[in-house]
Amino acid sequence: MGVGEMKKRFDDLPYSAFSAFSEMTVVCPRCGKAGTVRLDRERSRAVFRCGSCFFQNETTTGDHFAQVTGRCAATGRRFRVFVPKEKVRGPKKRVRCPLCGEWTVGEVTPEKPQAPVYREVSKARDPYFGYPLYFQGEFRGRTVWALNREHLQYLIDYLSADLRAVPAGFRERTGTMRSQADRLPAFLKSAKNREGIVKLLARLQAK
Ligand SMILES: [Zn+2]
Ligand SMILES: [Zn+2]
Repeated sequence: MGVGEMKKRFDDLPYSAFSAFSEMTVVCPRCGKAGTVRLDRERSRAVFRCGSCFFQNETTTGDHFAQVTGRCAATGRRFRVFVPKEKVRGPKKRVRCPLCGEWTVGEVTPEKPQAPVYREVSKARDPYFGYPLYFQGEFRGRTVWALNREHLQYLIDYLSADLRAVPAGFRERTGTMRSQADRLPAFLKSAKNREGIVKLLARLQAK
């Protein structure tokens, strides 16, 4: 990888390459070793399996959040929020407008769970069972994490490259203007943190 090159060049991946729907390596709640959370999207199930103690767990992914859309009573602007499904009864739900905080009655609509799912992952836990991600560490008071070993390698390659590029034809092939690196928080990408974060990620890789 990059051996003998003057500069380490890095070609970015599509925005969807790693996401909240990727397989996740998490800490097994029974034995503390690495287990895996996989999505079975056809059955709307998330399945956890530990490779060490063989503990298994399963849950319904669709049960977690309901989407409520509406028009803000104060400003008239349309909004969309996600609420835990157990708090929803019937087709209407009183929620706070996410833009101004005003109470508004919205409609419960079929949803794409991606937004709240990603919010859970950003707490360095899997969104279905709440198990801590296995590859995580602290850097200057912030949590740095990777979803799985491939994601960890991606982050190391990205942050240690001298030249970060989006490959030619990327936008056309992926049909999106966004690349995987667009998901990364600014503190991770900031030049002054990069070296320290790569060291931390390399330690995680040795786990
Ligand atoms: Zn286990
Ligand atoms: Zn509002």
